[in-house]
Amino acid sequence: MSIQNAYLNGLMERVIARNPAEPEFHQAVREVLESLVPVVEARPEFIREGVMDCLVEPERIIKFRVPWEDEKGNIHVNRGFRVQFNSAIGPYKGGLRFHPSVYEGIVKFLGFEQIFKNSLTGLPIGGGKGGSDFDPKGRTDLEVMRFCQSFMTELFKYIGPDTDVPAGDIGVGSREIGYLFGQYKRLRNEFTGVLTGKGLTYGGSLARTEATGYGLCYFTDCMLKDAGRSFEGATVVISGSGNVAIYACEKASQLGARVVAMSDSGGYIYDKDGIDLACVKQLKEVERRRISAYTETHPGAEYHAGCRDVWNIPCDIALPCATQNELDEKSAKALIANGCFCVAEGANMPSTPEAIHAFQSSGLLFGPAKAANAGGVATSALEMSQNSMRFYWTFEEVDDHLKKIMVDLYHNASRAAAQYGHPGNLVAGANIAGFLKVGESMLAYGIV
Ligand code: NDP
Repeated sequence: MSIQNAYLNGLMERVIARNPAEPEFHQAVREVLESLVPVVEARPEFIREGVMDCLVEPERIIKFRVPWEDEKGNIHVNRGFRVQFNSAIGPYKGGLRFHPSVYEGIVKFLGFEQIFKNSLTGLPIGGGKGGSDFDPKGRTDLEVMRFCQSFMTELFKYIGPDTDVPAGDIGVGSREIGYLFGQYKRLRNEFTGVLTGKGLTYGGSLARTEATGYGLCYFTDCMLKDAGRSFEGATVVISGSGNVAIYACEKASQLGARVVAMSDSGGYIYDKDGIDLACVKQLKEVERRRISAYTETHPGAEYHAGCRDVWNIPCDIALPCATQNELDEKSAKALIANGCFCVAEGANMPSTPEAIHAFQSSGLLFGPAKAANAGGVATSALEMSQNSMRFYWTFEEVDDHLKKIMVDLYHNASRAAAQYGHPGNLVAGANIAGFLKVGESMLAYGIV
């Protein structure tokens, strides 16, 4: 489908030609360019001064070899990436993903999304993302440590607390951040806030672990309130059982909802009485086991292999919190047919464009990832502030900041959508509000 502006349509064609075989990156760019049509029509200088062309080209891509030795003495060589996409409003900021599916196109899509998300938080952070095709699953702690040390031995040359501050993402949790930070500290001989998501004993922020999932629910709560609804008494389905999913489940339950399903890449569990989150935390955060083990202690619950069908479970609110393109048009239609009235994205780009179209044309409340899951990076920025001040805030102080950021973000996206002729369309609103601050800064710098 063509974009309703000749210049942006041509730009999209150039993006596809210059970045072949990177469908996730094309998908992310197309959505943003479509949203920005009314903006460039009102402000043609964004095209004239080259801002749009620069926006879709990363400032820098670093790609490197990561050799490491497993416990049996076998040598492995993975690929490492860091995409430093846009530093117009602050140091590059965005997570590292360790998953076998990682290649340049995934890191570029995530880095591109991060530009707008970070801007939406209202905090001074640019957009970046990184990772590797390394799979931590089934690896011993020693092997993960060796991999992380090798990864950082190259990456440390390109990052720094005022340059680029990575964090976690899929496959990169507190264990990996610890090994990465330890190696950076050793190589640089300095103790700075170069990574976020750190452990609490060495510079981490209280509430960072909970932030993405909690922030998702604070954002969703705003959407629901504006529509005269709430989490109270609602049935919720969540995909994934990692960091984002677990804390979305915790906050949704605290706000009065009943979460009945969660998943991992193998399948999903359905517990009509409500998920026992303490059990999921034990399985996933402590024992690193599959979600199927839930039924060993909860015989009343069901386990189904394969994760797509999780969206066939009737629910009021759906929170996709696993990975990109996990919710397609068929799943979207199943959710709508079963009476779901709100979908908010915890994962990055979990809904396909066809699914988003189905949601929006049915009138369901739809909260896009860029806005809805921005609480994680916002709290990472709060971790950076605490590190710079050499000071710590209490859990309540950080959580209060997070809540306020998510409420402001919701209203900014909502206002931008209305102002540019798309009332209620938070996809357009988030893209526009996120872009404007970055675009204005790029204009101010001239051609750089
Ligand atoms: P985790 O690694 O902690 O958890 C990921 C979860 O998603 C796991 O349950 C995993 O299952 C499942 N999953 C991963 N890949 C697939 C797949 N291909 N198919 C089905 N399920 C899959 O990651 P996070 O919770 O940190 O991240 C989840 C999503 O949220 C990602 O899209 C991430 O980019 C996004 N996000 C994360 C933030 C954060 O602060 N952590 C911030 C903003 C966005 P399994 O264990 O079987 O692999």
